[in-house]
Amino acid sequence: MAEKSTSPAIGIDLGTTYSCVGVWRNNRVEIIANDQGNRTTPSYVAFKETERLVGDAAKNEATRNPSNTVFAAKRLIGRRYSDECVQTDKKLWPFKVIKGNDDRPSIIVDYQGEEKKFAAEEISAMILTKMRAVAEAFLGCTVRDAVVTVPAYFNDAQRQATKDAGVIAGLNVMRIMDEPTAAAVAYGFDTNDVNSSVKKNVLIFDLGGGTFDVSLISISKGVIEVKATAGDTHLGGEDFDNRMVNHLVEEFRRKQRKDISSNPRALRRLKTACEQAKRILSTTAQTAVNIDCLYEGTDFYSTITRARFEELNADLFKKCIQTVARCHEDAGIVKDNIDVVVLVGGSTRIPKIQQLLNNYFSGKKLCKSIHPDEAVAYGAAIHAAHLSGQGTKEIRNLVLIDVTPLSLGTDVSGDITHVIIPRNTPIPTQKSARYFTTCDFQSKVRIQVYEGERVRCKDNNLLGQFVLSGIHPAPRGETKIDVSFKIDSDGILHVSAEELVSSKKKQITLINREGRLSKEEIDRMVCEAERYRMEDEQFKKKVLAKNSLEGYTYSLRKLVKEDQVVSKVPGGYVKYIDEAVNNMMEWLKHDVPKDANVYNAKKKDLEEMSSTLSKMSLYGPVFGGRFSNFCDDHSETEEEDYSCGGHEDYDSDDY
Ligand code: ADP
Ligand code: MG
Repeated sequence: MAEKSTSPAIGIDLGTTYSCVGVWRNNRVEIIANDQGNRTTPSYVAFKETERLVGDAAKNEATRNPSNTVFAAKRLIGRRYSDECVQTDKKLWPFKVIKGNDDRPSIIVDYQGEEKKFAAEEISAMILTKMRAVAEAFLGCTVRDAVVTVPAYFNDAQRQATKDAGVIAGLNVMRIMDEPTAAAVAYGFDTNDVNSSVKKNVLIFDLGGGTFDVSLISISKGVIEVKATAGDTHLGGEDFDNRMVNHLVEEFRRKQRKDISSNPRALRRLKTACEQAKRILSTTAQTAVNIDCLYEGTDFYSTITRARFEELNADLFKKCIQTVARCHEDAGIVKDNIDVVVLVGGSTRIPKIQQLLNNYFSGKKLCKSIHPDEAVAYGAAIHAAHLSGQGTKEIRNLVLIDVTPLSLGTDVSGDITHVIIPRNTPIPTQKSARYFTTCDFQSKVRIQVYEGERVRCKDNNLLGQFVLSGIHPAPRGETKIDVSFKIDSDGILHVSAEELVSSKKKQITLINREGRLSKEEIDRMVCEAERYRMEDEQFKKKVLAKNSLEGYTYSLRKLVKEDQVVSKVPGGYVKYIDEAVNNMMEWLKHDVPKDANVYNAKKKDLEEMSSTLSKMSLYGPVFGGRFSNFCDDHSETEEEDYSCGGHEDYDSDDY
């Protein structure tokens, strides 16, 4: 049971490439800027010898330390290692992914001189923790409650894994919300269509860094209802970049007869350059891709045109439009009845995508008025306010009706999937089906749960299975079993089975999803996340203490040269301090970070010297003190009417 908190609930858009956080405050949604002043934060985590970085600082590490800078964890979350997508992505990632327990992908990095393994959930948790910290810094209080968004087309395992990431980050995930639904909420409130009595059919086209979603949503009278959703959880800007990378790797091979494909640093530099080029091609027709010393001292200079970029991705762009068609057909709404097409996600800035959409909708105006990078977090923040009873009357009364993206069913004899909940069914929902035994005196029955649209089980995704044992023995066909599927508001599935002949033998089993983290693993990860957080804190303290000592050393060096000091303080003592300062600077130059106390103790010594120095420069040498043996005979005592020795005090909080 989550503890009740008074701090506001936040909305987090946990993106493949960028994440964004918003909160309802002062009667509006605030999209919160991070410590760098950016309103979106790269979904990157970098592991270093001494510290762990998340966000902008981590992305900056990507070319310097490619094998330990992890990104795109959202492409791994909830997937099996053997998944074709994981195998393809893995080849282009500079960090290592291996097969972990239960066919789960494990990310391998060097951190603090040791090899560490992380689940995708843990990396996502680190990003969620960062977004939470961004919100806490802005709000000035602890935040626990959050709505976290996922692509509408995320399957059950991907949703559950995202929820687990929230738990590891110490968040109370109030709701897993679909990204296009969040964007529709943002659109509805931005245009005030949500309060209109005229119903509007809105198509949300969300093409981001790694995922693609299309949802057809109707908005009117405070109700936002998803009619149908379609998409691809493995299609986005990353794929467009990768196509360009592959193309240029080939070009390099052709021109230089060198293969860079197994060099992570070269690949990473090329990928960064390609992403940059892709963005430029959204506004110009041609751009250069220049990288000095890309591989074995060879430079890479090339140009790429928008036409070539479009050709490299033509099939992917076409797929986007086909998905749009499928979505509105599923909803039973012809395209003329779609009132507006809302563009969300960074990749909708690509002109070809806009042109294809325009053509498909015969020139229907595409809505670009809502911010493509912030709309999802905006809608999530409104939903978070709604769930915690905050916000305006319209927000409190908002009704959201989502649908399930994939059909769910069980196997029946002959490897056929029997659908219990068809795709695009409004959620939450509960549906049951009755089955009969197929053998005489059968004592147990295995229930397998599949998701997907194919007829044969083997072509769909096996979510999990369980055995209902001890059932009433009877000739085949006589024992009846009711299987019930329940989808909750997060889109997560719960399954139960009940044997009916003998009412005594009712058995309910929740699916233990294959490939999912166990409770013990999640508990361990929660502890580790806390440990990493403490380590980060410790590291920050070390850096602050070191900075403070360094600043103090500089100020003492300045002080020791001041006329007032030189004229009043015995030369021996000045020399002693000068040497101490030089030694300290030398030591700091070669220092590897230590415990904050080491720096604090050294700073204390300097403070003592500085205080003696200040006193001497005011009153002349003070005998009997720790440093009195440095005083020359000729020193005088003379009182003057000022009271401070002149160095600035470096408080660690200033850094
Ligand atoms: P996600 O939500 O998946 O993290 P975003 O919606 O933040 O993704 O979009 C990020 C993607 O958009 C990246 O692949 C980025 O390269 C791409 N992108 C951003 N700006 C542009 C642009 N001007 N032209 C083309 N692609 C862009
Ligand atoms: Mg997104």
